[in-house]
Amino acid sequence: MQNLFDEAKRFIPGGVNSPVRAFRAVGGTPVFAASGEGARFRDAEGREYIDYVGSWGPLIAGHAHPKVVAALQEQASLGTSFGMPTEVETALARRICERVPGCERVRFVSSGTEATMSAVRLARGATGRDEIVKVEGCYHGHVDSLLVQAGSGVMTLGIPGSPGIPNALASLTHVVPFNDAAALKHVLQERGEQIACIILEPIAGNMGVVPASAKYLKTVRKLTKELGIVLIFDEVMTGFRVHRSCAQGLYDIQPDLTCFGKVIGGGLPAAAYGGKAELMDQVAPDGLIYQAGTLSGNPLAMRAGIETLDLLDDGAYERLEVTSASLEQALQQAAHDADVPVTINRVGSMMTVFFAAWPVKDLDSAMTADTTRHAKFFHEMLSRGVYLPPSQFEALFVSLAHGEEEVRATADAAREAFRLVKPGGSRDRG
Ligand code: PMP
Repeated sequence: MQNLFDEAKRFIPGGVNSPVRAFRAVGGTPVFAASGEGARFRDAEGREYIDYVGSWGPLIAGHAHPKVVAALQEQASLGTSFGMPTEVETALARRICERVPGCERVRFVSSGTEATMSAVRLARGATGRDEIVKVEGCYHGHVDSLLVQAGSGVMTLGIPGSPGIPNALASLTHVVPFNDAAALKHVLQERGEQIACIILEPIAGNMGVVPASAKYLKTVRKLTKELGIVLIFDEVMTGFRVHRSCAQGLYDIQPDLTCFGKVIGGGLPAAAYGGKAELMDQVAPDGLIYQAGTLSGNPLAMRAGIETLDLLDDGAYERLEVTSASLEQALQQAAHDADVPVTINRVGSMMTVFFAAWPVKDLDSAMTADTTRHAKFFHEMLSRGVYLPPSQFEALFVSLAHGEEEVRATADAAREAFRLVKPGGSRDRG
């Protein structure tokens, strides 16, 4: 792998096209993937792994699902891009709107970053206000205004925001702690009438999995309504992963705008933002708020998204829950048996094993997790053929292709790995 990484580094900054892939948080050399099938993938040297990253969320149907592959093959032979409307765009948009009650129209884009950027622009354009509120530890892609106290790779790298973002722009973003209604109230009392939108992940996945409390989200909904502030749920990660109607279905709370990504592209580049017609119709060409994309609504991505959503019936979510609950239980037991304190946060098929002996409910409690122990655990699991996210502050994902066999093999590996990472475990002595 080292030679592949060295070669990559000659031509690609850091050898990767997204920072977390570089393994900086856990050390060592990244695994180069070569092929995948179901819950597993093979690396460039032919070694097989059980995959709990699933391309960071999109692969809820597993790698190379036969229905997705067949649709892609058919579409590739029909043409990969037209730059004009196609029926498959409407077909995917209809599926999203049917499942998500507050969504009457969706506009497709190519990445989650584009979705959140466009949703914020729409909120600003529609309200005529410039200031926005984001929530600590939530990551919304690398949008300038949103790369302020964000999670995911930004946190892994310890970059407070990023050079290159003008202070003038960052100063329009107010940051409040997650799950803290009082802090939000305080900002809104001061600046409420200048604020265009509040954007948050209803179930944060980018400081590790940290669900918002239902009470908190209800308060956020109430306050935003009172002040005419657009509430944006970033469901790029949670959308169609945690529930048929996304996290908002789970909490029964309707935001004004929702950002989608990952699952709706089934492993191809597709994302979207959507909401009520009165808001969405302010986007060009019907409205004045401009947003566009050469490859937006790309037919290959639409086909992969349609096949993926069609696999996600009620039975699918039940299967995901059963597998994920049994994985959680197995990991909890393995950690307990090895006397390693962990806190496992899980919502459906996304979860994080925090190396922390206390509840993790916001960024501060997440940040106190033992990242050294996490890194050791990661490598012990990797060497046993289990590929986990290479950072403490990311979610692991279970797919429909994972089953009892994968859970059993993961539990076997975890029993050994936890024993080796506990203080006084053989790795420490060695
Ligand atoms: N929002 C959330 C909640 C995400 O998890 C991510 C990516 N992990 C994004 C936005 C950005 O999406 P993308 O990487 O496709 O730009």
